[in-house]
Amino acid sequence: MKTSIDDDLLRAFEQALARDQLYMAYQPTIALADGSLSRVEALVRWDDSEMGKVEPSRFVALAEDNGWIDELTIWGLGAILQQWRTWRESGIDTHIAFNISAISLQRLDFPDLVERLCRSLGVPTNRIMLELTEGATQPLIKLMDTLTRFRIKGIGLAIDDFGTGYSSLLQLRRLPFTEVKIDRAFVGDVEKSKDSALIVKTIIDLAQGLGLSATAEGVENAAQLTTLRAMGCDLAQGYLIAAPLAPDQLAGWIEEFKHRWPALANSPRSAAAEIEANALSQG
Ligand code: C2E
Ligand code: MG
Ligand code: MG
Repeated sequence: MKTSIDDDLLRAFEQALARDQLYMAYQPTIALADGSLSRVEALVRWDDSEMGKVEPSRFVALAEDNGWIDELTIWGLGAILQQWRTWRESGIDTHIAFNISAISLQRLDFPDLVERLCRSLGVPTNRIMLELTEGATQPLIKLMDTLTRFRIKGIGLAIDDFGTGYSSLLQLRRLPFTEVKIDRAFVGDVEKSKDSALIVKTIIDLAQGLGLSATAEGVENAAQLTTLRAMGCDLAQGYLIAAPLAPDQLAGWIEEFKHRWPALANSPRSAAAEIEANALSQG
């Protein structure tokens, strides 16, 4: 049921979008093999003058429910492609992951639109990847044609928040995903909980067995990072590595992380992580 609070929020959101007051923060994702920057994930931000920071999970859902999601998607694409160029001009050639609502993917012409936007801004399509989550009303399997078109254009596809919600194993086998992002609900206690460790290791093996890469979301401490490396996870993201950054902080983070990585990579396993890893390796 829509409330007057939602109406006010929606009006404020429409204004913020029209006045170009939304912006993106970018969270680095690293390769666990060597700590190198693999890409950044664009996360939309809205600081309202009266309400303060509004959570994306709140206003993205509102935009989805009220016919504003395509506007948000198009704005976001423009923002990340411009940002890619700015970084490229300053010597940073990175990849950007963009969260896209399954609703925007119902349009069969969407992959062509993205390709046109990339071309007009001089961004190679393989520098972009899309992150999708499955909603109850939007089974991803219905989007097979659109997703395949993206893949043909060299755009990577990740299934986000995997292991929660509605994502099923069938989607992984049938749809042309290139990556699985393991939900932070499991990563958050992977170093302590035997169950989470088993789930995370199983998702990593499953993803890699299907030829996809596995990314852990929400890595917050060194024991988690060490456990994930021992499990063979490909990529990691989380506050331990970096919070979502303003664009001009990326160059400084890259420098700083180069120095921080050796200590992180060699940090001792927590006792709990050791026990879990042993339990797993013994089947
Ligand atoms: P997501 O794509 O799964 O993004 C990860 C969320 O986890 C982000 O929240 C990020 O700030 C947060 N996070 C990152 N590292 C950590 C950590 O170590 N610990 C914890 N506790 N949290 C961490 P955020 O920015 O609030 O975004 C929430 C969700 O909103 C996103 O989840 C995504 O589904 C959606 N979203 C964000 N930006 C966009 C956008 O531009 N378009 C669309 N359609 N959805 C977006
Ligand atoms: Mg995401
Ligand atoms: Mg996620």
